[in-house]
Amino acid sequence: MELTILGASGAWPGPGGAANGFLVRAGRYHLVLDFGMAVLPNLQRYLPHEQIDAIFISHEHWDHCLDLYPLFLARFFHPDPLPPLPVLAPAGVFDRLAAMEDEEGVVEIRKSFEFREVEPGVDFEIGPFAARTSLLPHWVPNLGVRLEAEDAVLAYTGDTGTSRDIESLARGADVLIAEASWLDGQDEGRDPYHHGVKTVDCSAPSPIGAAWT
Ligand SMILES: [Zn+2]
Repeated sequence: MELTILGASGAWPGPGGAANGFLVRAGRYHLVLDFGMAVLPNLQRYLPHEQIDAIFISHEHWDHCLDLYPLFLARFFHPDPLPPLPVLAPAGVFDRLAAMEDEEGVVEIRKSFEFREVEPGVDFEIGPFAARTSLLPHWVPNLGVRLEAEDAVLAYTGDTGTSRDIESLARGADVLIAEASWLDGQDEGRDPYHHGVKTVDCSAPSPIGAAWT
């Protein structure tokens, strides 16, 4: 399994960065976890967009799914017909994207993407990945995900607050990508989200392109 960070800027992209997006490869299969602002340009540094096999979206906030729209346009204007790209997501993500278009456009979005609604806690497969999700605390339904393939385990929280479920999602994982926007001392008086696991210093430059194999 190989992980490439496409964006880890948080709510908006810093210079040359992107909001949330992570390219995960197992064999020849390419899965992207979240597709926030500016993830599409960063993705294309590593992979032609036509070669994405599936996308998993943790939740409907734009910093986790906005670049599905330019990806739709890239697929819509593509010179060759492309098969619908599977997008696995909790309830709400399709409606957010559909709101960007008129009725005719929504029909085209449905031709570009095959939306599959993911039930929290249900085991499923994405290509070679065995996947399990947990509903983690956020303002909208947010799915953390655990992926297993090639004897490796990757866990990703999406946006979250403190939860015991993060522990079970990440137990024994080789890598945990944990959202932790608020650092110690920054979260007083804020809603109980964005500071679930304080292991990452988000004030540091985004490690775009950093890869783990
Ligand atoms: Zn969010």
